Amino acid sequence: MKKCGYCAKQITYHQMFCNDECHGKSNKFYEMREHLSSVFGVFNMVCLIGMALGIFLMNFARETGLYIFAGCGVVLAIIILLIPLPIDNMLDKWKIKKAVFATRIIGLCVMGLALIAFLLALFVF
Ligand SMILES: [Zn+2]
Repeated sequence: MKKCGYCAKQITYHQMFCNDECHGKSNKFYEMREHLSSVFGVFNMVCLIGMALGIFLMNFARETGLYIFAGCGVVLAIIILLIPLPIDNMLDKWKIKKAVFATRIIGLCVMGLALIAFLLALFVF
């Protein structure tokens, strides 16, 4: 059984997408990914390293570590929410629509974590 490459609806064997709209959206997604993935891959990496550094710093400078973690987390979350680029595994499994949705949920979780760290730094330590 085949699934539409965009919305994951069932389709017949000789189709790639369930309709032209899904085909167009899929093309747009891959075009965007091609243009942006290298730039935002670097941004994502920098933010992740920043968050890891923040966690490391918490050992001796708790407040500074939390602020760095929170700052990098907010930037990372905004990038993920604006430009959700799911990994290929997710795309294969869920197709574009659901994978982008799941990626946005991850972005929201990162945002939540960053805000918690920010509040901790402000009010607890
Ligand atoms: Zn479709």
